[in-house]
Amino acid sequence: MELKPHRWQQTPEPITEFASERTTDIVVLGAGIAGVIATHSAAEAGAEIICVEKFGSFTAHGTDICGVNSKVHERYSIHIDPIKAARLIYSWSQQQSNYALIRTYTERSGEALNRYVDLMEEAGYTVKINDEMTARTDWDTLDDRYQMFRSPHLFEVPEGSSLPTTTWNSAYLVRTALAAAEKLGARFLFNTEAVQLVREGGRVTAVIVKDGEGFHRINARKGIIVATGGITDNEEMLECFCPIALRADRNDNFPKGGNMGDGLVMGKWIGAAFSRVYPAPVIHPVSFTVLAPGFNSSWLMVNRDGRRFCNETAYEPCITNARMNAPGNVAWAIWDSHFEENFKRQEPAKYARITESVPEAVERAVQEGDYLKADTLEELAEKMGVPAGNLISTVERYNRLVEAGDDTDFGVPERFLSAVKDGPFYAGTISAWMLSVPYGLHVDANSQVCDDDDEPIEGLFAVGNAQGDFFANAYPVTLPGSNHGRSVCFGRLVGQALANDQLIDGTPL
Ligand SMILES: Cc1cc2nc3c(=O)[nH]c(=O)nc-3n(C[C@H](O)[C@H](O)[C@H](O)COP(=O)(O)OP(=O)(O)OC[C@H]3O[C@@H](n4cnc5c(N)ncnc54)[C@H](O)[C@@H]3O)c2cc1C
Repeated sequence: MELKPHRWQQTPEPITEFASERTTDIVVLGAGIAGVIATHSAAEAGAEIICVEKFGSFTAHGTDICGVNSKVHERYSIHIDPIKAARLIYSWSQQQSNYALIRTYTERSGEALNRYVDLMEEAGYTVKINDEMTARTDWDTLDDRYQMFRSPHLFEVPEGSSLPTTTWNSAYLVRTALAAAEKLGARFLFNTEAVQLVREGGRVTAVIVKDGEGFHRINARKGIIVATGGITDNEEMLECFCPIALRADRNDNFPKGGNMGDGLVMGKWIGAAFSRVYPAPVIHPVSFTVLAPGFNSSWLMVNRDGRRFCNETAYEPCITNARMNAPGNVAWAIWDSHFEENFKRQEPAKYARITESVPEAVERAVQEGDYLKADTLEELAEKMGVPAGNLISTVERYNRLVEAGDDTDFGVPERFLSAVKDGPFYAGTISAWMLSVPYGLHVDANSQVCDDDDEPIEGLFAVGNAQGDFFANAYPVTLPGSNHGRSVCFGRLVGQALANDQLIDGTPL
């Protein structure tokens, strides 16, 4: 049987008839956080720039934005060791990713974000360190496996302000940077889709875009920055490059169809290589309540056979990775009536800040059907549909390990072990919600796109989730907010450098 080639393996005939042709210094493809920051940074450095976006507006989701050792960190007296953070992120990738990129990120993302802290504060927003969500206040004291720094920044609309509010805080930054870029003369062309890159004499010189009037050619004197995001919405690409992502419960990315890997496909057609590493999908066990299993605290987890099967320390991607590879793609968290004191012991800083009653939140989740509750383990097993005998022996074994304070089976640190002894008993399924699958073009240390021989392609750069080789295997929450953080960092560095006819390491172009 002959296999049908994938879209990226079928290079189309070049489009040569255009409704219009124009020339500018830099063209950015995609108005997400990376593209908008690149556009603003290049415009601020004096370049003439056009950003094309296939939808009618910019894209922004999420809350946390990392910038290592920013001026906000200084205000909080937080210092993150950039060498250690880089080493940990690199080790999550099993040394497959590009260490130089990661090191640039841990050394220069603070400086990049500082510009936007100023811009946002001038516009009337406040910024704080968000160590209440993914990042936990005291997880930077844990050993290397679980170390998580207090890195995420959160932009907010202060009370009483007339600034419009939205659900996703990162939209404040993207909207403000976009408006600032327009003031500097940058042009955003919405409902305009990049469809082909033009490579002439080895160099990428133009992009062909499509809008309601047909095709247009935009020539770039200095270069083109691909910022089209990852492959989250492209099932064919997920099947090829990140099949585990197809086992998530749902895809929460939006707008739907935004991340079809267009930048990769266009790049491949002109000789660029895809990222060398396995993608690190961002799939979180999203919480229903403050106690959500797996998200905010670490409870005994069992599979559909009622057996313990993984280390339950609530380091997000590990929990969902284990769930999605468990038989039947199902996992349960189990806890007993001492959940409040166990939660408090596991996460004292978080507990201290919680304003709602923990027992009430759990009871509400039981009423709403999110958690199961039973007086005995036998009854709980029946409700869960797992063999009662297995569940009981799993719990007995687990409780012996908790009592000994030494998890010789999976190595969960003592702080995160919580016995399951006194009823009523509770169970909740571990959810796996896909936020994004970063996967991009193979780049060098300057974020310049490379071909299969690792040679940089003149005139072509990639930032944000379209930048390959940064995360690999599992998304590290070493520096929470790093999806956004590296988008801001490389968006700014590449935008500024190109405007100044340089690479980000200062080499003249
Ligand atoms: C619900 C949710 C919560 C999240 N929370 C966080 C968080 O708290 N912290 C964090 O760090 N990350 C978070 N993330 C992930 C983060 O938002 C993404 O990693 C980030 O948006 C990537 O930015 P980007 O600019 O590379 O890509 P995107 O934001 O996806 O932007 C790419 C843009 O390119 C456009 N585009 C694509 N193809 C073309 C084309 N051919 N022509 C023109 N335009 C094109 C798209 O329409 C889109 O506007 C979250 C994601 C989701 C969905």
